[in-house]
Amino acid sequence: MLVSKEIKFTFFDLYLTLMTTSIKPDHLNSWLDTDLKTFIIAGPCSVETEEQIHTTAKALSSYHIPVLRGGIWKPRTRPGSFTGLGTKGIQWLADAAKANNMKSAVEVATAQHVEDCLKAGIDILWIGARSTVSPFVVQEIADALRGVDMPILIKNPINPDIELWIGAIERINHAGITKIAAIHRGFSQYEKNTYRNTPNWNIPLELKRLVPNLPVICDPSHICGSIDLIPHISQKAMDLNFDGLMIESHYDPSIALSDKDQQLKPAELARLIEHLIIRDIDSENIEFKDQLLRLRTEIDKIDFEVLELIASRLKLIQEIGIYKKENNITIFQPERWAQIVESRKKYGKEIHLSEEMILDLVKLIHRESISIQTKVMQDE
Ligand code: PEP
Ligand code: MN
Repeated sequence: MLVSKEIKFTFFDLYLTLMTTSIKPDHLNSWLDTDLKTFIIAGPCSVETEEQIHTTAKALSSYHIPVLRGGIWKPRTRPGSFTGLGTKGIQWLADAAKANNMKSAVEVATAQHVEDCLKAGIDILWIGARSTVSPFVVQEIADALRGVDMPILIKNPINPDIELWIGAIERINHAGITKIAAIHRGFSQYEKNTYRNTPNWNIPLELKRLVPNLPVICDPSHICGSIDLIPHISQKAMDLNFDGLMIESHYDPSIALSDKDQQLKPAELARLIEHLIIRDIDSENIEFKDQLLRLRTEIDKIDFEVLELIASRLKLIQEIGIYKKENNITIFQPERWAQIVESRKKYGKEIHLSEEMILDLVKLIHRESISIQTKVMQDE
């Protein structure tokens, strides 16, 4: 994949050194002069008044939060909602951050937004989920950033499309930006569920695999939509080795003009950070390393056995395909398929495997079987 070769991520200069030497991101704190356990961006969904942003910034900085976020142009789903203060709010945000020794971060969606933020001295920009979906919008932002050297954070697109996310990262990187990080803020879904935007952890983890040096941050506020689950999602992100969190915080969420249900008071945020458990990616403990190696060797062995069994199964599929062809029988047999699904589900349950996993597995193998038999049928 192009991206892993071409993108040289440095985020903040020291950050890259830390990432490539596999030092835990909590060491990032020394550079940012904070004693937090992980990299945190916090601040209100929207900048609303000069007093609101200054009061919030002051409180957040008293808890050593290094970066102050604030929405200036709000992409609202339906017209009629508060759409942000526009340019008037940018200077308030920039000043509030500076006055409290913080960096400032703003969402941009057009070239004009980029220009306005640069003029006001904003330190970090991010591209929102509704913009990442549009290559035109991302390209416009990328073009406006040419020659600029500042961190750009790219939220996942609203739909679970990793290529679209990577494409947006590439567009920004090809404009010469190297200080890039991705933000997982969940994906929208039609059916209502516990989350405002359902997290799909496989996607950011796959992104990390494809682009190993890319810092990936989690945005629990936009995943959860309400404050109850924010600690749980924040901890989950830490357990999955995310590099930081972006969390909405307002000095009084009850009067917030947007996303009031998902903003924490600064003191609540501080408590959340205090309770986060930050796990090590590795350990120097010899006993731990030995045990891990033993378990991994066993897992590897089983995985290869599973692959060999699947290969044997597919060989039989080839044979059955030839047999069906000779006897002029259809590939797909609904009764046999139903019997396979039911019997595997039943057995899976007996040996405590989740039905969801069994169904995924059976469907995957069945799809391959159909494809093998189709080839057999079509071969002259
Ligand atoms: C936001 O961060 O306030 C925002 C609009 O987020 P998202 O792009 O994730 O919807
Ligand atoms: Mn918001």
